Amino acid sequence: MTHVFHRHCHAQLPTVVSGDGIYLTDSEGKQYLDGCGGAAVSNLGHSHQRVKVAIAEQLESIPYAHTGFFTSDKSERLATRLAELAPDALNHTYFVSGGSEAVEAALKMARQYFVEKGKPQKSQFIARRQSYHGNTLGALSVGGNEWRREPFRPILSAAHHIAPCYAYRDQQQGESELAYSHRVADELEHKILELGAGNVMAFIAEPVVGATAGALPATEGYFQRIREICDRYDVLLILDEVMCGIGRTGSFFAFEQEGIVPDIVTVAKGLGAGYQPIGAAIVHDKIYTAIAEGSGFFQHGHTFMCHPMACAAALATVDTIIDDDLLSVVERRGEQLMSKLNKALGPLPYIGDIRGKGLFIGIELVSDKLSKAPLPSKTQAHKAIKSEAMKNGLMCYPMAGTIDGITGHHILLAPPFIIEERQLDELVSKLKVSLLSASAQWM
Ligand code: PMP
Repeated sequence: MTHVFHRHCHAQLPTVVSGDGIYLTDSEGKQYLDGCGGAAVSNLGHSHQRVKVAIAEQLESIPYAHTGFFTSDKSERLATRLAELAPDALNHTYFVSGGSEAVEAALKMARQYFVEKGKPQKSQFIARRQSYHGNTLGALSVGGNEWRREPFRPILSAAHHIAPCYAYRDQQQGESELAYSHRVADELEHKILELGAGNVMAFIAEPVVGATAGALPATEGYFQRIREICDRYDVLLILDEVMCGIGRTGSFFAFEQEGIVPDIVTVAKGLGAGYQPIGAAIVHDKIYTAIAEGSGFFQHGHTFMCHPMACAAALATVDTIIDDDLLSVVERRGEQLMSKLNKALGPLPYIGDIRGKGLFIGIELVSDKLSKAPLPSKTQAHKAIKSEAMKNGLMCYPMAGTIDGITGHHILLAPPFIIEERQLDELVSKLKVSLLSASAQWM
């Protein structure tokens, strides 16, 4: 019997004992190819020397000091590095320990910004129905994952939701991509007008949706329209790149490919690449200045913020991504993976859509390709695929997401950036074998 309160209380999990590159090994000596970076975390694989050395050096000098008393060399250098990499006026980074904390900080910053600006009536958030922003109460309130929200509904705070950008399901026949993008983005304007622009603080969205859709990029022009609408009504734009940021899509930030700049961007997972827990909200000058020149104090904090060990790991991770030119590697490997998947899995009768950006790829499962009818939720396809994949020595991230009352099944692939081409072949062939045996259970 285990004394660890595992999330899946009855799951029989193998015990991991070591990692080498893109592989993990359990206590029985069985090897697993990490095809999803855990949850898009392990971007540099599991044994990256430069990151390990950076952590060891930090441990030797100073592992921890409370931010109420000290700053540290690593947090200062990491914030400077992020400010250099982020465009425009995104110059100030608030470090926390994970994605949900980063989102909570962003939400509260948005609120304090308007309080400082003398607009305390601005108090409403708008988000999208297909989204995941974390499990803490604030982040869960703006998130749109019904299954995760359901038991907690009475204790969530009010948030408003609009349609996601989900062309595979929503784009109408004959409707151009741009017309579709504008139609769904304009839902934001309608919602702002319905609530009254004077009441709305911020809109939050993932540039590439992750945990509720495998991986789902927006269509051309969608985020540009969103940016225009936010500007028109003095609504802050928070982009949640906890999963898709830090190089995962082939640019350092996913929003760079959308031609826009948010007011706050949240990152986590890949920032420490799993070597240390760390998250961050990277903030526009105007928000920082309003708080710094207003009360001079952001009314929010955590004991472990700016943790020197976490910042050391993240600095080494970010430097590695840039110095080793991993952004272009991600782009190249992403194209290779996409074409291998299309070839190997595309013909299978239950593969509806394969999509994504860089090494952030989603596969949507359907029961009928033509009608795009989702697999019935009773198939529990995500569970069957995960268990078959683990048997075959593959980690992939199958999920069941509910949107507008309909459950869809998706698989996320997000392998480490250091994956080699022949290892992509191994990933695809293990996934195909796993799908064939899992689908035999539901077909
Ligand atoms: N935002 C997004 C977009 C995420 O994908 C996640 C985690 N899947 C979170 C926030 C929450 O991050 P964490 O699990 O580190 O709290």
